[in-house]
Amino acid sequence: MIISVASGKGGTGKTTVAVSLALSVGYCNFMDYDVEAPNSHFFLKPAIRNEQEVTIKHPYFLTETGADFTRCAEFCHYNAVAVAGGKVIFFPELCHGCGGCLLVGPPGAVREKDVVIGRIKKGIVDPGINFFMGELKPGYMRTISIQVALDRLIQEDELVIIDSPPGTSCPMVFSVKDSDFCILVTEPTPYGLNDLLLSIEILESMNVPYGVVINRDGIGNGEVESYCKSKNINILLKIPYEQGIAESYSKGVPLVRHDESWIPVFRSMMEDIKKQISVKKENEEK
Ligand code: SF4
Repeated sequence: MIISVASGKGGTGKTTVAVSLALSVGYCNFMDYDVEAPNSHFFLKPAIRNEQEVTIKHPYFLTETGADFTRCAEFCHYNAVAVAGGKVIFFPELCHGCGGCLLVGPPGAVREKDVVIGRIKKGIVDPGINFFMGELKPGYMRTISIQVALDRLIQEDELVIIDSPPGTSCPMVFSVKDSDFCILVTEPTPYGLNDLLLSIEILESMNVPYGVVINRDGIGNGEVESYCKSKNINILLKIPYEQGIAESYSKGVPLVRHDESWIPVFRSMMEDIKKQISVKKENEEK
């Protein structure tokens, strides 16, 4: 069972919810798909046991052959190759490793090599949480390649909690695509509602069931709650805006460690989610 935790924008408390859920239910695989800015490890403090590099293929150009690489520059959709004054210039951060310039370039004058674009870290967290985190190297834009490497580690027969990247662009879509359920975390503000609507649109187009967690409840207005009620969207949980919660977050202390009375609340939310997943499966089988 895969549960993803997403939000239409950063800073809503998505990681707070993902981490607190994992610590409350225990015995799960926690996967940080926010590979451009992973931060769940600040809260979970995993003991890292293993690291693997993620590589992609980059071309290199044998300029000493005197070959003309103009076709490579013309072909490259990502403008990663340019030819100026008879010299070839390669912009590695723009290269998507498609291999196209090898195919269209002068035969034998373009080769490939492995380039490290990031890494996957594996560790453990008490109680019984297997921790996986992707990390994209600064300067590279191959977010999805790191997420693909994480995808290979998913064990669908176990409980998997995915901390998705914020926003509604490709990395978020990729991270929720196989989810049995997505928890959308938002704030009760007009901005929060706007970003929530964008996230909902994506999940509905992908047929991924979802529910909403309202974080920092008490600030802003009641538009998010009114909207959810009007559309019959399940509000899974409301986390109040409290100075103590904000302070513990700033110190890297998860909500359920700051106040253990939240543990049964998150467990109950998980039971609620399981019921919704079962209902969806039953409806699909009819
Ligand atoms: S491998 Fe693809 S993306 Fe990279 S430089 Fe060649 S054509 Fe461009």
